[in-house]
Amino acid sequence: MSAPRVVSVAAASPAQRAGLRVGDELLAIDGRVPRDVIEYRLLVDEADPQLEIRRGHDEVSVTVDKTAGEALGAEVSSALFDRVRTCDNHCEFCFIYQLPKGMRRSLYLKDDDYRLSFLYGNFTTLTRFTELDLERVLSEGLSPLFVSIHSTDPALRSRMLRNVRGATSLRWLRALLDGGIEVHGQVVVCPGVNDGAALETTLAGVLDEYPELATVACVPLGVSDYTTEAAMRPHTEDEAAAVIDTVEQWQELALGALGRRLVYAADEYYLIAGRPFPAAERYDGFPQHENGIGMARAFAAAFGGDDRAASGVQPGFFAWVDGAPAAGYRATRVAPGTGGSPGPTGGPVAVITGEYGAMVLGPLLAGLDSRPDGDGAPIRLLPVRNAFFGGNIAVTGLLTGVDVARALAGQPEGHRYLLPDVCLSDGRFLDGMTVGELPRPVEVVPADGLSLRHALEAPLGRPSGAPRPPEAVPVALGQSR
Ligand code: SF4
Repeated sequence: MSAPRVVSVAAASPAQRAGLRVGDELLAIDGRVPRDVIEYRLLVDEADPQLEIRRGHDEVSVTVDKTAGEALGAEVSSALFDRVRTCDNHCEFCFIYQLPKGMRRSLYLKDDDYRLSFLYGNFTTLTRFTELDLERVLSEGLSPLFVSIHSTDPALRSRMLRNVRGATSLRWLRALLDGGIEVHGQVVVCPGVNDGAALETTLAGVLDEYPELATVACVPLGVSDYTTEAAMRPHTEDEAAAVIDTVEQWQELALGALGRRLVYAADEYYLIAGRPFPAAERYDGFPQHENGIGMARAFAAAFGGDDRAASGVQPGFFAWVDGAPAAGYRATRVAPGTGGSPGPTGGPVAVITGEYGAMVLGPLLAGLDSRPDGDGAPIRLLPVRNAFFGGNIAVTGLLTGVDVARALAGQPEGHRYLLPDVCLSDGRFLDGMTVGELPRPVEVVPADGLSLRHALEAPLGRPSGAPRPPEAVPVALGQSR
């Protein structure tokens, strides 16, 4: 257990008026020791909380003058103050087992902690969930949560998780839904394991046993060069098409039974199968956008100027993997002072992206020019192959500095290079490199369509990030002659 440490105190806040300082450790609040930031928030929400503080070698007691519900105005350093509950599964498809050696230690942490599910959208299998956890989730209303289903067949789920408790832990899902908790589900589809008839059984099981689930995402297995599991392989084009057909068939059944689609296929399936993405309205507001469901559609809409389609925080490095460490993928993308430097304006522009990103961005950027009069240069893509992980890893968020550096080294100097911020966590790539170590200056741009559009327009005199009516957007960038 480590006491939460204050990292910021808002000006004119109750915390500042009470003399709280950055670096203070909060030992107790109203006599209780908070286990995590959820409890911290609840405790400091009360009127006039009494804080026991360690400041250097001293311990002091401070009563904060505030009303119930008024923000304290102090942020603390971490999400969990006790130990992260680690995962006791050994899934053959686990991406954490497929990481090369020598990466940051935090990236190898397998958590299965409902609190990180609530706080960050991490998926949990519930194999370590307990009666006490259920009591807390229900009493504190920790909703929504994100649960890995994989299969509703107990034997298959247990086999996939390599954990006997995998056969029974979905009873907690039932209890959460009975308690009114909003739950989003996920099925990592592994070809030859839980696709085909097994996927049909799972989706039938979802509709039959867990119809209150808010959504269920079907996402493809990611296989890196470092997998040691012989049975794990990427989907073929036909297998991807079959997953789409199954999902769309069950969407129709769910629409008939529940009045909503319930289940969605990841964008990667449409890319692998070479099929067009469903229309934006078929994503029902993009509830699993961060899990790669409808991201391409939302990006295109936002790039076209529809800022209603921009869905907030973008997916992180491990958003599609269970048990991602909070510090790993939910950290600030770009730490102050590490965000790259603006390149020369008005000249040639290249957008750095992964191989899947290139398939989405290609049609959007085709024919666009860096100047509105068309006398600039075509805006081009710089697709980067993920040699670091290899396999079928082609999402932009898993690009590493070494691969981006290799791609940039062969590029001309004096061009603008735009890098999506999903490649970074606290200003570093997954392999620890910073943008400052790249062989060309790059500009880091938030990974949503509207931000990219603004970044491309910024040199034309528009302030980046300025709101504008959707109809103004298509004329701002020139068409390449
Ligand atoms: S972290 Fe997730 S995928 Fe990895 S072993 Fe645990 S439950 Fe399985």
